[in-house]
Amino acid sequence: MYVLRLDQIHPLISGNKWYKLRYYLEAAKASGQKVVTFGGAYSNHILATAAACKLYGLQCAGIIRGEEPEHYAPTLTDAAAQGMELHFVSRMAYKERQIPEPLSGENIYVIPEGGYGEQGMRGAATIPYPPAFFDTVCCACGTGTMMAGLLQHTAAATSIAGFSVLKNHKSLTAEIETLLQRPFPGNSFINNDFHFGGYAKYTDELIRFMNELFEATAIPTDFVYTAKLFYGAKALLASAFKTSQNLLLIHSGGLQGNRSLPKGTLIF
Ligand SMILES: *Cc1c(COP(=O)(O)O)cnc(C)c1O
Repeated sequence: MYVLRLDQIHPLISGNKWYKLRYYLEAAKASGQKVVTFGGAYSNHILATAAACKLYGLQCAGIIRGEEPEHYAPTLTDAAAQGMELHFVSRMAYKERQIPEPLSGENIYVIPEGGYGEQGMRGAATIPYPPAFFDTVCCACGTGTMMAGLLQHTAAATSIAGFSVLKNHKSLTAEIETLLQRPFPGNSFINNDFHFGGYAKYTDELIRFMNELFEATAIPTDFVYTAKLFYGAKALLASAFKTSQNLLLIHSGGLQGNRSLPKGTLIF
């Protein structure tokens, strides 16, 4: 089993996010527009977008779900420090992806939440690993954009195993097919058994696993995505994968999100 440590590519633009953002940012740069995107108060996508826009010399704004808090969570503090304007909107307005004033009157380039879209997939297809070496590549799935990119990048004989971190995300396969514009390949699969209660939910068992994994391998994971991926891949070792296989786990980053856990929860 190999681990691709995308968590180590940049201190703020972590994991898969830069790959998913790169073609959106090139387009915004070419058109000279201000980047606008969506996320929650602990969003990896928001912080990565803020930091990448700063590096690209782009203006950017984040539309954040929920009331403006009295004290910003660390993710929002960091995003603002990178120069991102923050606009807080009600959950209802967020759900409808409304662009609040005054942003709605500006010349803006909207990146969908989580980078979902054709450009996001093309960017994720540039996540670097030898496309034919691995029998199976395992990744965590939120929107499925990364998985779609991996399906584009990898040799047809390689199977991609996606671990969904959402509960009841029944449309995930269809959303990946929409991006791919072809049927979901028969040798790949999505596993829905390791969401630990749903998005950003966790159990003592998951936290224990994260600490044990770190003790044994010095690999830190995040509780929203990669811990569920590692836990799921390990649980399936005996059943879904053969011992002769070369397995790759994509460590897609997201460690900054662990700052929402109570202090002392994790040993790293
Ligand atoms: C955003 C994110 C994902 C999910 O990527 P999708 O392309 O939305 O499926 C996985 N892992 C981490 C750490 C992330 O931050």
